[in-house]
Amino acid sequence: MNYFNYKNDELYCEEVPVEKIAQEVGTPFYLYSNRTLTRHFDVFSGAFAAVPHLICFAVKANSNISILKIYAKRGGGADIVSGGELYRALKAGIDPSRIVYSGVGKRDDEIDFALKTGILLFNIESLQELEVINERAGRLGLKAGIGIRINPDINPKTHPHISTGLKENKFGIDVASSVRAYRYAQEMKHIDIKGLSCHIGSQITEISPFREAVQKLSEIVGLLKRDGIEIRYLDFGGGLGIPYDDEEPPPPSEYAEAIIGAAGDIACTFIFEPGRVLAGNGGILVTRVLYTKKNQGKNFLVVDAGMNDLLRPSLYGAFHRFQPVRLTPKEEITADVVGPICESGDFFARGRRMPSLARGDLLAVMSAGAYGFSMSSNYNSRPRIPEVLVCDESWHLIRERESYEDLVRGESIPGCLEKV
Ligand SMILES: *Cc1c(COP(=O)(O)O)cnc(C)c1O
Repeated sequence: MNYFNYKNDELYCEEVPVEKIAQEVGTPFYLYSNRTLTRHFDVFSGAFAAVPHLICFAVKANSNISILKIYAKRGGGADIVSGGELYRALKAGIDPSRIVYSGVGKRDDEIDFALKTGILLFNIESLQELEVINERAGRLGLKAGIGIRINPDINPKTHPHISTGLKENKFGIDVASSVRAYRYAQEMKHIDIKGLSCHIGSQITEISPFREAVQKLSEIVGLLKRDGIEIRYLDFGGGLGIPYDDEEPPPPSEYAEAIIGAAGDIACTFIFEPGRVLAGNGGILVTRVLYTKKNQGKNFLVVDAGMNDLLRPSLYGAFHRFQPVRLTPKEEITADVVGPICESGDFFARGRRMPSLARGDLLAVMSAGAYGFSMSSNYNSRPRIPEVLVCDESWHLIRERESYEDLVRGESIPGCLEKV
């Protein structure tokens, strides 16, 4: 459920007509609904009300500090994968004791930043990383909270680029080595063992891979207990999918029931790192039709947003629904929706049945709240587009459109090039 709905054949975000915002900020732009984002957090968190839990929003899904603030206000934390994301999380007022740090390639300076900040824990992805974190913490006279991210070798049945818990993926430490890794960590002076984690992939629409992962984690918790190693935090990662098209992912209640059931009577705080399921359907991309053209009988709709603004269709062949901002009776056509970028991979849809829109019409690309703006770039020297947040009747520019000056900020021409 979300708060992008038609009233009198006009698309609204909560109580604000989308067209009105388009007139004021220009197109393209990202548009988020506070009510939707809030509701998704509450539904997810509510599903785990029976167990101690912490929801660490995956910052990479949507990194705008206003969006992070929405979750911070509701007691959420952050799952970060870089120093930049830590900086954003702190800017948004997220309590460091609710921040977990994931990722296979943490740099020394990023580790130091996180240590000085006092985050809850690092999800360790290799023995070498464990050694480095112990050493960096020693230098700073601190103790680093850690969890080991295992690679449970589970097929999440999702797109290969977003599956992360298979043995051929780069993530985590295999189950067989994990107990040894904990023993190793136990001997380290500047390491405080807190947790155990996994993250098996993204846009997962079945419950069974999650259940399998939880069972593997529970087994390891048991093995560690026998070795006198106590796990206080079990981090199940993110990955719950959303309906982009006709997928039917389990609702958070079913997901929670499966996880709580499979975990048995483990006395831990559960950590979750949801990204997409919280933010995905809380945002849309609003774009305007620039041109309609026909090549050898094939229809193209050229819109003013491109793959640099929303990469998912090009990167994963991802599906996004479209909705015209104004519903008018129009014949249906089959068309490719493409952007202005000089790449054939720059498309939002291929061979899609849709109303035959005209130059100037506004189109909403749905379910663009996660991995939308955060994956955007300046490719083709296109200034990055604004982000707008609606709260009931009011709307707020939470990131302004970049200017041409922003494009070259930080660039300079050295003297040797000035000489003729
Ligand atoms: C990407 C990622 C997430 C979030 O995944 P979603 O599918 O958006 O829920 C969580 N944890 C880690 C470690 C990730 O890399």
